[in-house]
Amino acid sequence: MVFRRPSLKRYGSYTKRLWPAAPFLLCLIVLIHAHYPVTAAGTQYEIHAYLQDMLWENTADGALDVSGILRLTLSPTPFPPSTNFGVEASLLLRTPSSFSPLHAAWRQEKKLLLSEEVKFSTNEVLIPFRATVLEADDLKSQWWATAQIATAPPLDVVVHQPWDDSFSLGERFIPFPEVAGYQLLRGDFHIHTNKSRDAAEAPSPENRAIESYQYGYDVISLTDHFHMYAYDLAKDTAEQIGLIMLRGMETGMVSLTGGEHFVALWEGEMPTYQPKDEHAWSREPSGRTAFYQNQVKGIAESGGLLIYAHPNLGSGDFTAAVKWMLENHYFSGIEYRGTWRNFIFDLALEQNLSLIASSDIHTKRANIDPRQAPVTLILVDKADPAGVMEAIREGRTMAWHNEGTLVGSERWVKAYVEAAVEVSYEGGEIILTNGGGLPLRGTVYYNGGSRPVILPSLSTVVIGRAEEAPAEVEIRWANVHYGPNRTLHTKHQVAQ
Ligand SMILES: [Zn+2]
Ligand SMILES: [Zn+2]
Repeated sequence: MVFRRPSLKRYGSYTKRLWPAAPFLLCLIVLIHAHYPVTAAGTQYEIHAYLQDMLWENTADGALDVSGILRLTLSPTPFPPSTNFGVEASLLLRTPSSFSPLHAAWRQEKKLLLSEEVKFSTNEVLIPFRATVLEADDLKSQWWATAQIATAPPLDVVVHQPWDDSFSLGERFIPFPEVAGYQLLRGDFHIHTNKSRDAAEAPSPENRAIESYQYGYDVISLTDHFHMYAYDLAKDTAEQIGLIMLRGMETGMVSLTGGEHFVALWEGEMPTYQPKDEHAWSREPSGRTAFYQNQVKGIAESGGLLIYAHPNLGSGDFTAAVKWMLENHYFSGIEYRGTWRNFIFDLALEQNLSLIASSDIHTKRANIDPRQAPVTLILVDKADPAGVMEAIREGRTMAWHNEGTLVGSERWVKAYVEAAVEVSYEGGEIILTNGGGLPLRGTVYYNGGSRPVILPSLSTVVIGRAEEAPAEVEIRWANVHYGPNRTLHTKHQVAQ
């Protein structure tokens, strides 16, 4: 296969002035979209190239990390198995200073990042990239990143679409404030890959890691039915792109369709626990399959923790097995969705179980509405697998709901809102600032009056004028709950 060397012909580019004193990540999502017509096996195909999720992040030593994902897709589907396209991508970082590639799939040639040759064996290839720009102090003026693709055989560019900035929950790089001294991570702890029998359409473990990174998760676990080896397949990829990963699997009681399911998580290394009769544990010690109590103990003894998966029981009561696990504190967390019964929320608060918002996704995330991405917010001492496990065991989580609500214990949701929201008074105006990634809404009370307010993520809203700064502002948050029908109220001093 012969590649045409990149001719530096630009098909898409963007420029962004850096904020020299930006105290948090500079957030932008970049999309460069190109079409390449290809003919193979008598069919006209198109390669679509997207450069997206670009992040420029200041590192502690004054350098700048640049990262993103190049996504190449081939349409129409299905991909003809006898065809083999080769693609080589290059990124030109037009910066006044030097840089070095951080991702193994890329190499450096002067100011070009060149990808390894990529072969299409399915309709989509994701190529994450990362580089460090040294001497970031030089970057006070505008600079450019340009992407281009060389293909075999050589193809011409037909269309490109310029970049756009956007924010939404579930996308990457929305800064979160520190909460009560903890760092906040976004997690999804129940994800299937194509290594699950019922998830043939799902991405491979490696592509799931890339996809999760792309959608904004900081930490994930791949929890296929019956086994825990997806972790081993995705581990290197996750490490390269800086995604934290726990080892996981889904298992549980007898009958895959009717029995209770549990998500088991470990820090990483292959545990001593050997899965047995997965999804078929017996309820009785004399049963034909492994007795659930022995399996549950085995998971705990090997350093694992358990989350009760989708406990949306029709009966409104737990089975004897689940009661035994609750009474003996074998659950660290419980999945919860707003449409499920309130007693699960009550139970989580009573037993200090982590509230877990999981996708349990069996398909590509692109196939579902991105706004439907559930997020578990984890408060960690340290952003690593041990830190995440500890936080789940200690109940330091909140759940961000599909329909736009934040739920958790009063302690954590209050700490979050107090860290994210600031009330100030300036030039006769009362101003609310939301410095966090979650959109908030509610009613504001001050000087004897009230008004509704909507605070998108990272927004500043003027709520009214006053002769003098009010002594105190109270807010009832319509989308923040610390129990069924318990809505958070916060009181704020007014900064002047
Ligand atoms: Zn399940
Ligand atoms: Zn599942």
